[in-house]
Amino acid sequence: MLRQFELVERVKSYDTAADEDALNRAYVFAMMAHGAQTRASGDPYYSHPVEVAGILADMKLDGSSIVTGLLHDTVEDTDTTLDDISGQFGGRIAQLVDGVTKLSRIELQSENTKQAENFRKLFLAMSEDIRVLLVKLADRLHNMRTLRHVRQAGKRRRVAHETMEIYAPLAERIGMQSLKDELEDLAFREINPGARDSVVERLKYLREEGDDLIPRIVERLRNTIGKAGMTVDVSGREKRPYSIWRKMQRKNIAFEQLSDIVAFRVVVETKEDCYAALGVIHDAWPMVPGRFKDYISTPKPNGYRSIHTTVYGPEHHRLEIQIRTREMDDVAQLGVAAHWSYRAGEERASPSDGRQYRWVRELLEILDHVSDPEEFLEHTKLEMFQDQVFCFTPKGGLIALPSGATPVDFAYAVHTDVGDTCVGAKINGKINQLRTILHNGDQVEIVRSSAGSPSPTWERFAVTGKARSRIRRFVRMKERDEYLRLGRAILERAFAQAGRDMTRKAQKQAAKALGQKSVEDLVAAVGRGVVTSLQVVGAAYPEAAAPGAANPRPKPRDGSAGDRAVPIRGLIPGMAVHFSNCCHPLPGDRIVGIVTSGKGVAIHTIDCDTLQQFEETPERWLDVSWSVDGDAPEFHVGRIDLVVVNEPGALGAVTTLIGRNNGNISNLKFTDRAVDFYEMRIDMEVRDVRHLANIIAALRANAAVTSVERARIQG
Ligand code: MN
Repeated sequence: MLRQFELVERVKSYDTAADEDALNRAYVFAMMAHGAQTRASGDPYYSHPVEVAGILADMKLDGSSIVTGLLHDTVEDTDTTLDDISGQFGGRIAQLVDGVTKLSRIELQSENTKQAENFRKLFLAMSEDIRVLLVKLADRLHNMRTLRHVRQAGKRRRVAHETMEIYAPLAERIGMQSLKDELEDLAFREINPGARDSVVERLKYLREEGDDLIPRIVERLRNTIGKAGMTVDVSGREKRPYSIWRKMQRKNIAFEQLSDIVAFRVVVETKEDCYAALGVIHDAWPMVPGRFKDYISTPKPNGYRSIHTTVYGPEHHRLEIQIRTREMDDVAQLGVAAHWSYRAGEERASPSDGRQYRWVRELLEILDHVSDPEEFLEHTKLEMFQDQVFCFTPKGGLIALPSGATPVDFAYAVHTDVGDTCVGAKINGKINQLRTILHNGDQVEIVRSSAGSPSPTWERFAVTGKARSRIRRFVRMKERDEYLRLGRAILERAFAQAGRDMTRKAQKQAAKALGQKSVEDLVAAVGRGVVTSLQVVGAAYPEAAAPGAANPRPKPRDGSAGDRAVPIRGLIPGMAVHFSNCCHPLPGDRIVGIVTSGKGVAIHTIDCDTLQQFEETPERWLDVSWSVDGDAPEFHVGRIDLVVVNEPGALGAVTTLIGRNNGNISNLKFTDRAVDFYEMRIDMEVRDVRHLANIIAALRANAAVTSVERARIQG
């Protein structure tokens, strides 16, 4: 185990600004906090944070990272609180420790690799400061190095699997190749020991067979490039068993070629030297076609830069050669951590040619104005997945959603049925509103009811396309259902009033005559008010419309009194008369007649706004009154404007109420449809003003109805 002064000395060797006092105090704090706790290996527990700090020092990370490494398990595994950490080491360290603690609570719950990518994103999204992720990776590396001490095979396997699926790819993503290789190999050892053993055996055999082949080739390469006048460092490294194994699997071949097991690395001083060395190598030995890659001109997304080529080299072996500068080599090994150390040393720090990860590059630009290298890591926030949020199902499944998503989005992401029947949500065990915005790592449990159904109001806060389109579709479907119900009721009544049977055949004929695709469409059209019930009856029974046909009841009017007997006193004999469309006068209303040239007399209610237009022409006003006799009830059109809550069933409640009060809807039109309210205008056949007043009162008593007024304005 690394001793206290060794650790401090190692950190001070590359980070002279590191807070020596804080390092010493953190070392002691970790020892005290973990006390007599032990590891599976029997070692005192505090050896673990100390080793983690050592790994971070090998990466040449800043003093705060080392302190965080020393303290990383104190909050999770001891009585220490974040306040204690904050009090002793400051708020920034407390935040870093908190970040690591949160990451420790996330475990890959299943071996479902489909989830792995989401888990990796979750890790990145939760590591607000890249140091949190680096400490977590160092923590995992040490745990993997000591995994063999864990007694339960199931746990070893789970940890190894998680390492393979989550941690190794994360290390690769931030460019830490050597960390990735070691993590993978340690996991491979646990997951498939047989395969690993056979690869190791084969490597040993080839090594003996080769008889110092690798050192001989290294020497030849060094001489050849050296002769061209370049300072060069050549090494030949056996690839890791796992990488050989994967290559064998991928290409479905056995490894026999040297190029499959050894990578030769040529490290030169400048980028120009890289291309010069490449020329020398291709000049000396023929290149293998199709194996050349230039990651210097086109770096990998994680910032990796190098030239790769394969040649038929000395002794006719295929050689895989990587050519790069020292800085590129460090970046290839340490990724983002190398950027920090280059920054700190101000040594060859060249942000302008740095084709690093987007966020590192952006930060380097910002940091050009920041002189303190200490601030580099602090500002290296992982902003890659800020537009996403990751939440858990109760069983540990991970759901990725756009940021701003709510439990409704979550429910639909789980399954359409879950969304459709969702009535509430528990977030981290607490009941919350469906409109609550979800955060990274939230565990969401959807409360369902078979009676539940999507509400149009959800559209206001749902953000995913899936949820929104589903809600809209459901609302449209529900609307059509209501139109169908309404249309059917209107038609039943109209057919009954006409004394005709509402047979399927009659409806089919009407649908055809009125240009509707199906009977259903026809009924819905009636419900929507596009087609009137009279048109349907007329089309179904053309003879019924003929004069003298059986019609036990006067036809309801649709605004025009036509040539029927008009129940109005005071009219000029022989003059056409009609009820105005603006105010729809009903028996019981005080009324007035207006003489209109060419159109006869228009009947208005006395309070109709239209009458203002005729104030200058009193000669056109006629004194009229109703002559309705109670025995022969006549039906008139009453028109109302109402505002109804936009929710399933509201329209049904309205139409049912009107029907129950003997009003017969002849037309219904939406005048405005907002997310939360419908505004609509309904025409219905009523006896008189009192009848209409009763219906209005009944509607006002209904919870779904926000307001209802008799229509006054022509629409
Ligand atoms: Mn740990």
